[in-house]
Amino acid sequence: MASLAIFRALRNRRFSLISPSAIPYSRSIFKLISTLILGEHEGGFLKPSTLSAVSAASSFGKDNSISILLGGSGSDLQKAALHAASTHPVISQVLVADANILMHPLAEPWADLVHLLQKKGAYSYIISASSSFGKNVLPRAAAILDVSPITDVIEISEPYLFVRPIYAGNALCTVRYTGLEPCMVTIRSTSFPPPSIPTAVESSAAPISQVDLSTFYKETGGKSRWLKLTSQETDRPDLGNARIIVTGGRGLKSAENFKLLDKLAEKLGAAVGATRAAVDANFVPNDLQVGQTGKIVAPELYMAFGVSGAIQHLAGMRDSKVIVAVNKDPDAPIFQVADYGLVADLFEAIPELIEKLPEKK
Ligand SMILES: Cc1cc2nc3c(=O)[nH]c(=O)nc-3n(C[C@H](O)[C@H](O)[C@H](O)COP(=O)(O)OP(=O)(O)OC[C@H]3O[C@@H](n4cnc5c(N)ncnc54)[C@H](O)[C@@H]3O)c2cc1C
Repeated sequence: MASLAIFRALRNRRFSLISPSAIPYSRSIFKLISTLILGEHEGGFLKPSTLSAVSAASSFGKDNSISILLGGSGSDLQKAALHAASTHPVISQVLVADANILMHPLAEPWADLVHLLQKKGAYSYIISASSSFGKNVLPRAAAILDVSPITDVIEISEPYLFVRPIYAGNALCTVRYTGLEPCMVTIRSTSFPPPSIPTAVESSAAPISQVDLSTFYKETGGKSRWLKLTSQETDRPDLGNARIIVTGGRGLKSAENFKLLDKLAEKLGAAVGATRAAVDANFVPNDLQVGQTGKIVAPELYMAFGVSGAIQHLAGMRDSKVIVAVNKDPDAPIFQVADYGLVADLFEAIPELIEKLPEKK
């Protein structure tokens, strides 16, 4: 009987000596773990979200060789490479891809670059922050490499076991990666605080290597073209990393009224956020949108004015340490997640707050 079963299995090819789930583990026995981080930089410095990716990459194991890839051109790129090299001792090397085509976050050339580096480096993991850049580039690179990416990870329980939110953050899903290398992951930066920087790291700065792009230009080419970047000049903190955020919803009623929030943000040294309804009504540009289809934030203080608290909005801010809501409707769902709630007209509450708060030094 047993031999008959074996014969049938052989005929049907339904057997495997190494189960697919064992592949990543069996490989790691023979090979050191290596991780490629798709780095983002601005003004000659790594973005905090990339530092969060470094924190996440450190969870893959002690013998993990972590490389940061930086692309672009000019002095800012070289400065950012120096910054990356001396940022943290866990970084083994910085790879610099110096090419004009990589100055802008276009998915096609970046995904081709990741493909090129994977062919050379055979990384165990490729990781990026779940930023617009990471969400754009990493899935495309994963498709070229024929692996399934795991996106928006908030916890790395074991080297191939990840936790990620689903249903707009209302449930958490634990995913085991059972595919081939590289295991490609985007992480939610608010869940991985940047690593604390030990003193005297400069002496152990990681080596910086230039990526050989001689074959890259032949392979790359895309259907999209960079046109322009439109952004608001502001001294305020970046929405993604701000310690305090004041958010306005449809209750603010107009773009003009949003200036009230600007004044409050100035007093508090806060960033301004908005709901999708406020963005769709053209009160503010869409880079201020917080939520499932906007930015995910987790500041120390989140103040919501005229925001109803739809689940898609909560998905982007429910991890904030302290939530304050001002709404004239006592039944607004935002009060269910708020630590402090005020049932009031925002057009009275905001001016009063501005008046009573001390001037920011
Ligand atoms: C697929 C999908 C993705 C989405 N993604 C997002 C997302 O990323 N982010 C997001 O925010 N939304 C998102 N939405 C939209 C979401 O469902 C809600 O429509 C939106 O969040 C509502 O915005 P709001 O709270 O500003 O407006 P409303 O729901 O209209 O609420 C306005 C609130 O203001 C209060 N108010 C009015 N006047 C005053 C006043 N004078 N004083 C005090 N309070 C006042 C009202 O009582 C009300 O509670 C998404 C929806 C879908 C379907």
